[in-house]
Amino acid sequence: MPDYLRTLFLHPPSWEGFDGGAGSRYQARREVRSFWYPTWLAQPAALVPGSRLVDAPPAGLTLADVTPLARDYDLAVLHTSAPSFAHDVKVAEALRETNPGLRVGFVGAHVAVAREEALHASRAIDFVAGSEFDFTIQEIAQGRPLASVAGLSYRTNGHTTRTPERAVLENMDALPFVVDVYKRDLAVEQYFIGYLLHPYVSLYTGRGCRSKCTFCLWPQTVGGHRYRTRSVEHVVAEIERARRLFPQVKEYFFDDDTFTDDLPRAEAIARGLGRLGITWSCNAKADVPYATLKVLKDNGLRLLLVGYESGNQAILNNVKKGIRLDRAREFTRNAKALGIKIHGTFIMGLPGETRETIRETIRFALDIDPDTIQVSLAAPYAGTALYRQAREEGWLRDEALVDAGGVQSSVLSYPHLERAEIHASLEQLYRRFYFRPRKIFAIGGEMLRDRAVMRRRLGEGVEFLRFLSRRRRASV
Ligand code: SF4
Repeated sequence: MPDYLRTLFLHPPSWEGFDGGAGSRYQARREVRSFWYPTWLAQPAALVPGSRLVDAPPAGLTLADVTPLARDYDLAVLHTSAPSFAHDVKVAEALRETNPGLRVGFVGAHVAVAREEALHASRAIDFVAGSEFDFTIQEIAQGRPLASVAGLSYRTNGHTTRTPERAVLENMDALPFVVDVYKRDLAVEQYFIGYLLHPYVSLYTGRGCRSKCTFCLWPQTVGGHRYRTRSVEHVVAEIERARRLFPQVKEYFFDDDTFTDDLPRAEAIARGLGRLGITWSCNAKADVPYATLKVLKDNGLRLLLVGYESGNQAILNNVKKGIRLDRAREFTRNAKALGIKIHGTFIMGLPGETRETIRETIRFALDIDPDTIQVSLAAPYAGTALYRQAREEGWLRDEALVDAGGVQSSVLSYPHLERAEIHASLEQLYRRFYFRPRKIFAIGGEMLRDRAVMRRRLGEGVEFLRFLSRRRRASV
């Protein structure tokens, strides 16, 4: 086995409660405190023996906490995102100042699409990796010369150099399990997502999504539009191992872009999980047929996270969502009939949004009535078709996707619809959806059945109301 550099994988400290980590899709502080696992960093960490993964935001670590770590390592790999990049550069500079011999690299979708630009941001960044960086980082950690490592850009003699692109990873089973890294370096109790049971564990069973939604960050920058998957046996073996490592975990979440992109495989994995007797949830498109839903439910599926995005068909067509509203309604009815919970996500301010379509989306959300919802503002991340379209059409009012506190901002504005109205529509949908007797009773009933849920929901309720009042202040 080759010698490895002492390697630190770091999701840098940021705004309190900011979830911009190597697993988050919408990189912002959410309405209630929530954290995804840093799976994109855990994957290369599993390939580098003796490394350490530090996920600063959920651990509550500050810059002062992480800076001294630089002394113990030869290589630091920082995961960055569009909203946190400027701050992450400061963290890199502090690490370099503490240990001038430290080699510092940045990874993440935001820098993968603009590697040289990222290198120019600071001399503290030695290299920037391209989209799929697992084996790129492993080779750097083996001490290979940067010039011989495919898939990165690096600084040399005051210039930047780009090495040949790395081939897309086809054998997904070549990626070792991440749950051993979670066990070694993370505390599963620190990871919360409002609609998942606590504690939960999430991981990927494949990369890429067959859909081509113009706003979606990961498939357009990192994963691509083919669903490359791990074998059923590999996935089930990892969950079996996780069950032994984390007896306290109540739910497993498969964070693949669209776990239901390959229905026969989803059913086969479900049957394997059913034999383990675990509770699990996953991302799904609103077009899974009843027969598949039934197999998944019969084998432990608890919840589906579904991107409905809009209640207006023209908007769905504009963003190439590939979903028909009538199919989405039928899918939702079927899932409910089977007792599968749904967390529905919506985006306000996508191209084609008008005052009327905002009303349509609110009506649609109330009508299909998922158990819980999440509302986001259209966020044109660099590297996406939406970003290019917004720049060409002159819709982009601001490049900063979050405000000074890390909360998502409304950055798109249309000639017929100002950003302030889009901003306000997020709160309208939340209020209309949650402040209904039916929802209040449902949440109350859930709290009465379980004291742990009660404590958690009360805390989240206070956070949610604070979030709405902060937004209201921000919009006046
Ligand atoms: S279906 Fe979901 S994951 Fe796939 S491209 Fe669309 S938004 Fe992204």
